[in-house]
Amino acid sequence: MPGLEILMTAPSDAVMSFSYDPLQVGLSVLIAIAASYAALDLAGRVMANRKVVRAAWLAGGAFSMGSGIWTMHFVGMLAFHLPVPVFYYWPTVVEALFLAILASAAALYVVTRKRMGWRYALISGTVLGSGVAALHYLGMQAMRMDAEYTLHPIIVVAAVVLGILFATSGMWLGYYFRDEPLQTAWRRLGAAVLMGIAIAAMHYTGMASATFRAAPSHFSAAHTVYISTLGTLGIAATILALLAATIVSCLVDRRFSAQYLQLTVARGKVDLANTATLTLMAELTASISHEIKQPLTAIITNANYSLGQLAKATPDLKEVRQAIQEIVDDGNRTNAIISRVRDLLMKESPERALTDVNAIIRDVLQFLHAEAEQNRVDIQLQLADPLSPVHVDRVQLQQAFMNVLMNSMEALRPVPQPQRKIVITSKAKADEIVIRIEDSGPGLLPDVSDRLFEPFFTTKAEGMGLGLSISRSIVEAHGGRLSYIPGSDGAIFEFALPQAAGELP
Ligand code: ADP
Repeated sequence: MPGLEILMTAPSDAVMSFSYDPLQVGLSVLIAIAASYAALDLAGRVMANRKVVRAAWLAGGAFSMGSGIWTMHFVGMLAFHLPVPVFYYWPTVVEALFLAILASAAALYVVTRKRMGWRYALISGTVLGSGVAALHYLGMQAMRMDAEYTLHPIIVVAAVVLGILFATSGMWLGYYFRDEPLQTAWRRLGAAVLMGIAIAAMHYTGMASATFRAAPSHFSAAHTVYISTLGTLGIAATILALLAATIVSCLVDRRFSAQYLQLTVARGKVDLANTATLTLMAELTASISHEIKQPLTAIITNANYSLGQLAKATPDLKEVRQAIQEIVDDGNRTNAIISRVRDLLMKESPERALTDVNAIIRDVLQFLHAEAEQNRVDIQLQLADPLSPVHVDRVQLQQAFMNVLMNSMEALRPVPQPQRKIVITSKAKADEIVIRIEDSGPGLLPDVSDRLFEPFFTTKAEGMGLGLSISRSIVEAHGGRLSYIPGSDGAIFEFALPQAAGELP
C-alpha cells in the first residue's frame, strides 16, 4: 500500500484525522433513497405520458433526480469533518450539479426507451455510473482548505466500479418499474432503499479513496463558500421537500391518468362493440342475407300480385297501389340494410405496421389498469425483450388481447383475492412470436373447450359469446393462431403470430 509507506517514511507528512457527523451521514442516505424513489416513480410517469408532456416530465424529472444525487454527495461531503475549515469553490459545485442533471436526463431517457437489452443497460449504466463518479470527484475538487489529498487508485477504481454496478442495476430496476404494474409501491420502495444504499456506498467508498494531509495552501477566497452544519441541514431540507413534491406530483399525475384510463377503457369497450358488430356482419353473412331475403320475397309477391290484377279487365287499383307502395317500402328497407352493412364494413380498414407485441400488451394493460385494480387481480408480465416485430393492426390486436384478458378477469371473480393472478408471457418460438395468457381461475367448465370459439357460445348470463370468436378471426386474419391449451388448473390461451422481417420504426 503506497499510502502507508509514505506515512511511515515521512512522519511530518502526517495523515489528517477525520470524523463523520452521523446525523449528516444518515441524512445523505435518506436523500439518496428519496432521489431513487423519485427516479423510479418518474420513469413511470415519463412512460405514461406522450410527446410534450413526456418531455416536460423528463426535464423536470432530470432536474429533481439530478439535484437529489448532487445533494446526496454534498451532504455526504459536508458530513466529513477535517480539523481544518473546508470551503467550496462554488463554480465547480455548480458544474457538478449540471453534470448530475445531465446524467439523470440520460438515465431517464434510456429507461423509458421502447426496448432495452442487457447490453444497452450495461453501456448506459457505464456512462451513468462514470458520470456519477465524475460528479463525486468534481465535488472533491471544489474543496479549498489548508490541506491536500492523494487518491488511492485501487479504491478509486472500486468506487467507479461500484458506481457502474449501481447504475446498471438502477437502469434495470427503472426499466422494470416504468410500466408501473399493479401493487408496485412497496416493491418500488424496496428497490429505492437498495439503490439509495448503493449510491451512498459508492460515495463513501469514493471518500475512503482520499487521504488528507495538512498543507498550507493560501487558496484565494474568491468564489468560495463555507457551509455550516445549519446550512447543510437547510440544503438537505430543501432538496427533500423538492423530492417529496416530485413524488406527490407523480401520485397526482397517476390519479389523473387513472381517470383518463377509465375513459379510455370505456372508449375501448365502444370500439370493441364496433368490432363485434363488424365481425358479426362479416362472419354471419347468412343471417344478413336472411334479412334481405324476407323483403325481397315480399317484393316479388307484391309485384306478381299487381301484375295479376293489371291483367284483369277491372283491376282493383286501390289494392294495386297498396301493393306497389309495399314494394317501394321493402325496396327502401333492403337498401338500408345493405348500406348499413357496407358502412360497418367500410368503417375501419386494417392498418398494419411492424409492431412490438410487448408494446401492444402494455397498451392493453393500460386500458385494463382500472378494471384490474378494482378486481384486485395481480397481473404479472414475463416478456422476452427484445422480440422480433410482427406485422399487425395494432388496434385489432389490442382488441383480441383485451377480449381474452377480460374473460380471465371475469373467471377470477369467484377466486379469493390473494390468489387472483394472471401471467402474461411473450417469447419467440421457431418463426413465431408466442403470447400466453394464463389465469388462476377455475378453468373451463366440462364440454366448454370444444365450443369455446363458436360465435354466440357463452356460459355467462349476460355474455354475448363473441369475444373469443372475434379474437380468433383477428388472429387468423394476421396469419396466426389462437388456441386454448388444456391441462392446466386455470385457463391458458395462446396466441401465435408470424415474426416479420425488418426493423421496428
Ligand atoms: P363471453 O365472454 O361473452 O361468454 P367468449 O367467446 O369470450 O364470450 O367466451 C366464451 C366462453 O368461454 C365463456 O362464456 C366462458 O364459458 C369460456 N371462457 C372463456 N375464457 C375463459 C377463462 N379464462 N376461464 C374460464 N372460462 C372461459
